[in-house]
Amino acid sequence: MIARVIVDVPAAQTDRMFDYEVPKKWQAFAKPGVRVIVPFGPRRVQGFIIALVNQTELSKVKPISEVLDPVPVLSEELLELGIWLSQTTICYQVRAFQAMLPAALKTKVNKILVLEVDSFNLPLPLQTLFAGDKAVSWEEARDKLKQDFPLIKSAIDAKQLTITYERKENTRKKTVKHVALVPGWDATAIPDRAKKQHELYAVLKNKSAAVPVKQALDEAGVTRATLKSLIEKKLVVETDVEVYRDPLQSEVIERSNPLVLTEEQTRVMASLKKVINEDVHETMLLHGVTGSGKTEIYLQAIDSVLKKGQEAIMLVPEIALTPQMVTRFKARFGDLVAIMHSGLSNGEKYDEWRKIHRQEVKVVVGARSAVFAPFSNIGIIIIDEEHETTYKQEETPRYHARDVAIYRGERHGAPVVLGSATPSVESYARAKKGVYKMLALTERINGRPMPDVRVVDMRQELRNGNRSMFSEELIHALRDRLEKKEQSVLFLNRRGYSTFVMCRDCGYVASCSHCDISYTYHRNGHSLKCHYCGDEQPMPSECSECGSDHIRFFGSGTQKVEEEIAKLFPEARVIRMDVDTTRKKGAHKQLLEAFGEGKADILLGTQMIAKGLDFPRITLVGVLAADSMLHIPDFRSAERTFQVLEQVAGRAGRDVLLGEVIVQSYTPEHYSIELVKHHDYEQFIAKEMQVRKYGGYPPYYYMALVTFSDTELASVISASQKIVRFLKESFSEETIVLGPVVSPIARIKDRYRYQCVIKYRHEPKLHQTLETVMHHYLRDSTNKKLAISMDLHPYFFM
Ligand code: ADP
Ligand code: ZN
Ligand code: ZN
Repeated sequence: MIARVIVDVPAAQTDRMFDYEVPKKWQAFAKPGVRVIVPFGPRRVQGFIIALVNQTELSKVKPISEVLDPVPVLSEELLELGIWLSQTTICYQVRAFQAMLPAALKTKVNKILVLEVDSFNLPLPLQTLFAGDKAVSWEEARDKLKQDFPLIKSAIDAKQLTITYERKENTRKKTVKHVALVPGWDATAIPDRAKKQHELYAVLKNKSAAVPVKQALDEAGVTRATLKSLIEKKLVVETDVEVYRDPLQSEVIERSNPLVLTEEQTRVMASLKKVINEDVHETMLLHGVTGSGKTEIYLQAIDSVLKKGQEAIMLVPEIALTPQMVTRFKARFGDLVAIMHSGLSNGEKYDEWRKIHRQEVKVVVGARSAVFAPFSNIGIIIIDEEHETTYKQEETPRYHARDVAIYRGERHGAPVVLGSATPSVESYARAKKGVYKMLALTERINGRPMPDVRVVDMRQELRNGNRSMFSEELIHALRDRLEKKEQSVLFLNRRGYSTFVMCRDCGYVASCSHCDISYTYHRNGHSLKCHYCGDEQPMPSECSECGSDHIRFFGSGTQKVEEEIAKLFPEARVIRMDVDTTRKKGAHKQLLEAFGEGKADILLGTQMIAKGLDFPRITLVGVLAADSMLHIPDFRSAERTFQVLEQVAGRAGRDVLLGEVIVQSYTPEHYSIELVKHHDYEQFIAKEMQVRKYGGYPPYYYMALVTFSDTELASVISASQKIVRFLKESFSEETIVLGPVVSPIARIKDRYRYQCVIKYRHEPKLHQTLETVMHHYLRDSTNKKLAISMDLHPYFFM
């Protein structure tokens, strides 16, 4: 039996299958999709069996060292998906497989040197190295011995040392110590005076199964010492019982029942059910204004899928994975739901993944990577807020969850539902062309009106002498809500609003010495941080250029807004939500709960408050500097501006109280801001499509971004020029290759960056050519330091 294995060595040379012999003892376990440990050069590495065959073309193959999984962690479908993913995103196959599995399943193998003789027989440096231990790791030996390292080789040859391999798991299963009585014994072995032992014995006698140690001790009111005596007498055994970590901390959630659908909802539901029951794949765009009851549709569609005995994947953007959203799904489906998002620890993620893998749950609610949930009988995949850019992974593999969902939907004969109040331009265009089926919800539940939106011209405010970040109108409205005891939300678009540090005398801006990007000021540690490489520096007291002490931080961070509110409305209770205040686990949830319970008048925050909030007493939404995103050099900046404004506006007036939205802007005449006034999505799209057509952008053209980086500026320039020339020669006439040009962020972590943009409508040679570039140029040993990253359908051009 020969196994064809992809090894966990992401490099151009190793991006293929390697043959290994399967020893007899592993043959029952060796299946496509299991993880294995295999010898690879001088190392042992993890790999995945892709296929089993009868023969190999090689004359000699090494045996597999170990099979790690009793049941495959990747099904046949996921194996194929992985290969497809590596082809469509141009990445190494093993990277695609890793992306589909929780980090906990990534195993490292450590090489260990074991002492076979008494250490005094060894040369002195080795005696010092082992220092009384029986084994040391290969890395430790290498680092400590330095030039004496060759002594290891002689000691191995002399059989004084041997090499073994030790698997290092990333995360273990969580276990809890349990106790139970050993059957067949009674209490006669316990002396009468040992009252406590009798008490513990009596507690355990009443249990039908093993109970957690802590529980047993608590019930009996005894300590561990008592338990120890019983264990020594062999009356009681202690065992490790596997438990799941519970991200929701066993919180009790009241069950909810399906609501009676409105007429519009009923119509949408009927179209959906038809597709669900026919077991056919179709991609559907559910365009429904905020508060139109999309989530209720998702819940009921999932319900009908479960009734058919199938499973459902529900994707929501990371920032929308608010406790409110999760609670709605738990309330409807209880323990059938697994949750997956980046806020979970590696162990929790692993546990949620195992619940799916063991088919103990039927629904997963999660962020982007939940699209890889190892279900085997998927009945529906739903992507809420489908326009959100968090569905695109910005590291290898650079996939979009929407593409993966459609791939899996086709494979399972299941519908894919894309929901949004402001669909992406691309999806909307596809639905208009009939590639996706369009479903629409045009009204808010109970006919609640959309909130009234007013745009304030901040240039005019300045002319009127108001230099504060709040317009007169917003101040007035906030005061009004405080008096009426209604709640307000203040939204600050953080992107483009980082707090940088600048010298007021010479204009010097403090920036990272490894990356061409300015530092962000962090108040907590009174320090400067680089958001690209993580470098941290103390806040300088004087300018490093001119020595002036007029060095200050600038920009309107949320903290600064908070201070400003405190000055204007000393009596207002404010909850601030941003990366700083939500870093601690559970903080997000606590802050929102406090706001929901009316413990604050104003909720101030960044993107993370733009979605998913459903509080009845919010009647005012204020947007500070709506256009901060508009000036990012990106063809999607108008689309993003419109979407986020619509999104925050949707937080107001969701219940009986009417909502009002005040948008502050320096470019109020821009269509992305102007059209929010009437919530006019259709007109926005019409205008945006013209702009895209004129500029040659998606959906009229496809785009790909190739980024080159190197520690030497000259090498990156020459390599990028050479490769761009090759691309131009390979592609057809109509395909446009722009560049190479220096990237907007010219240097990250001491690597110089150049990029080129490819625009194409139909380019049959695209994948093949990019694949050639990746394999040829990265294999070329003179290009060791060159790194090339490819992003098909890029969302960020930095
Ligand atoms: P969306 O996801 O489109 O923003 P939601 O599903 O959150 O909308 O619905 C908005 C509000 O209306 C929620 O409070 C929800 O419980 C309520 N709702 C939804 N559908 C119905 C219905 N058919 N009858 C009554 N209330 C509903
Ligand atoms: Zn200066
Ligand atoms: Zn940096």
